[in-house]
Amino acid sequence: DSKQAQVAISFYSSGRDALHLRRLSLINDLRRATENNQLSVCYQPKMTLDDERIAHVEALVRWQHPVEGPISPDEFIPLAEHAGSIRQITRWMLRTVIRQCRAWRDLGHDIGVSINISAMDLASGDLPANVRALLDEFAIAADRVVLEVTESAVMRDSAIALDMLGRLKECGVRLAIDDFGTGYSSLSHLKRMPVDELKIDKSFVIGMADDSNDATIVRATIELGHSMGLLVVAEGVENSRSLRMLADYRCDMAQGYLISRPLPAAELTAMLVSHNAM
Ligand code: C2E
Ligand code: CA
Ligand code: CA
Ligand code: CA
Repeated sequence: DSKQAQVAISFYSSGRDALHLRRLSLINDLRRATENNQLSVCYQPKMTLDDERIAHVEALVRWQHPVEGPISPDEFIPLAEHAGSIRQITRWMLRTVIRQCRAWRDLGHDIGVSINISAMDLASGDLPANVRALLDEFAIAADRVVLEVTESAVMRDSAIALDMLGRLKECGVRLAIDDFGTGYSSLSHLKRMPVDELKIDKSFVIGMADDSNDATIVRATIELGHSMGLLVVAEGVENSRSLRMLADYRCDMAQGYLISRPLPAAELTAMLVSHNAM
């Protein structure tokens, strides 16, 4: 019997419970990740499709765990949201990225930056004041900063989130709706959101050159975005065939591995120098 119990314990701890323990310990480690300098930022360019210039980059957080090594934001951001440490991460990102935006300007690169914002950030009242203070501190024009929010983040608490988006717009920053097409938002809801930019989710873009359904969705989304006066960005551009199709469809910007992977700031600077000089 005790042998059986032993087997059961090791079975569980190698399965569901082990996962649970990993989550708990990561949640705990995340609380100190910012102060222990374990976070860093990679920047991925967005390229305009008409003149193929890079005038904008998306900032993506990276976590180097002292024992586990690099952990994907797809894994730790939901944990940080669950545990409440996302607000600390967002504050750190805003400061780091707006400071980098200033550093690029000082080097002669007038580059806009996008920062991802979570549902929980939209519920915390101090985000607009925080953004405004950073824009002042680094003397960055508000319209150089884009905040990306997902449809589902806004859906979760619609009234509060919409109010927060309105207050952010008053700061002069631009707003983007991220992962468009994957949430369950209605078009009437989209119409009420004070956004400037629509990002088509990469799940539609990655295979669009080989899947006519995806291509149709991408094309219709570009038209929808334009009819609402939005700038349309396609993410997940991995091959030149999809890039050509997007240009045909009059998409405004492309982002994806074809153009560049997300890079550390110094490598992105080198890329700006060589790419925009062409
Ligand atoms: P996202 O905001 O949709 O960011 C785009 C993700 O797609 C990034 O993954 C990027 O590396 C990846 N990607 C870019 N081009 C391609 C491509 O051509 N093909 C493929 N297959 N993937 C591509 P990453 O950096 O792992 O981030 C994953 C997600 O984690 C982000 O998705 C975002 O939801 C979240 N995230 C990342 N950084 C932050 C942050 O600072 N704050 C918050 N709240 N969330 C973040
Ligand atoms: Ca994003
Ligand atoms: Ca996205
Ligand atoms: Ca995503």
